[in-house]
Amino acid sequence: MPHGKPGHEAFMKRAIELAKIALSKGETPVGSLTVRNGEILAEGIEAVKARIDVSAHAEMIAIRRACRALGTLDLSGCVIYSTAEPCFMCSFAIRQTRQSGGYRAA
Ligand SMILES: [Zn+2]
Repeated sequence: MPHGKPGHEAFMKRAIELAKIALSKGETPVGSLTVRNGEILAEGIEAVKARIDVSAHAEMIAIRRACRALGTLDLSGCVIYSTAEPCFMCSFAIRQTRQSGGYRAA
């Protein structure tokens, strides 16, 4: 990297690693992370079955953690990455927290 910070590819690679962890736990293989100023702020691994919670999508977990880390619901300037096209629920949460459009695999 010319500027020394990881780019889209590195973040997507990490999201794919998180998705593989979800798969190894019997979950739908989805991984997500929120990036701020070129650094990972929060990560999410799909945990619907483990938590017995239909809202425990990887994106929702990453968003919750990012909001708590910053102590705000405003994630302006953050970029969310996901290995899947975000569903309606996650899309709402992404828009509601003012994150930049995510970047996804395939
Ligand atoms: Zn979702």
